[in-house]
Amino acid sequence: MRTPLIAGNWKMNKTHLEAMRLVQEIGHELADHDPRKVEVAVCPPFTSLRTIQTLIDADRYELVLGAQNMYAATEGAYTGEVAPGMLKALNCTYVIVGHSERRELLGETDDEVAAKAALAFDTGLIPIVCCGETSSERAAGDTRSKVEGQMRAALGGLPGERSRSVVIAYEPIWAIGTGETATPEDAQDTISYIRSVLESLFGGAVAGDIRILYGGSVKSGNAASLLKGPDVDGALVGGASTDAAEFVGIVKAAL
Ligand code: PEP
Repeated sequence: MRTPLIAGNWKMNKTHLEAMRLVQEIGHELADHDPRKVEVAVCPPFTSLRTIQTLIDADRYELVLGAQNMYAATEGAYTGEVAPGMLKALNCTYVIVGHSERRELLGETDDEVAAKAALAFDTGLIPIVCCGETSSERAAGDTRSKVEGQMRAALGGLPGERSRSVVIAYEPIWAIGTGETATPEDAQDTISYIRSVLESLFGGAVAGDIRILYGGSVKSGNAASLLKGPDVDGALVGGASTDAAEFVGIVKAAL
């Protein structure tokens, strides 16, 4: 039984003061939320992790914490980077790796994504590994080969048992921040294909436990239909996650 996950990727938005207010609104709205039904994660910028961690702990919000990125080394002379152990020390549960904005804008490679996913596990963090096709790849009918290549590259080196807890986010790049979404049928179709790739990597039992999220312009108004596919285990939400009412609406749609 896979517990759905709704994870908010705040991207490079919100000062720590604004973040404080946002998490208080979300936490308050979800005061009676049962995390066994739907797990809810927030992934603020690094500068707000400590603030949000403190608020989650102090006010017992039904939220878990995630980071948006990490560096694939435990420590050292990597100016400006953040090590996974630092995230673990802040009580992060999740770390997003291989987001398309990092791949496309910052040149993050499949090898780097694989190294980050492996080290995240070694550190006790759960990687949310992103994959997805561009609009031209989609038009060329290459969606499956693109996401399969990304999955094999990112996860191929991991032992099966360890991979059981990984989270995958299928995020068509053309749908991110554009207001366009995959149809619920296309989301289900690609996500079930990703599950078949995971099955070939890790076997059916492990693949059947792995949560695969959809991401790309999810909002409170379209969440219920996008999440209805049997293989769609939740959402990675960008823009709408920085609006408390929208984000809570998405969580409620997943219940
Ligand atoms: C994302 O950044 O992961 C994302 C899905 O963004 P948006 O919801 O804004 O499309």
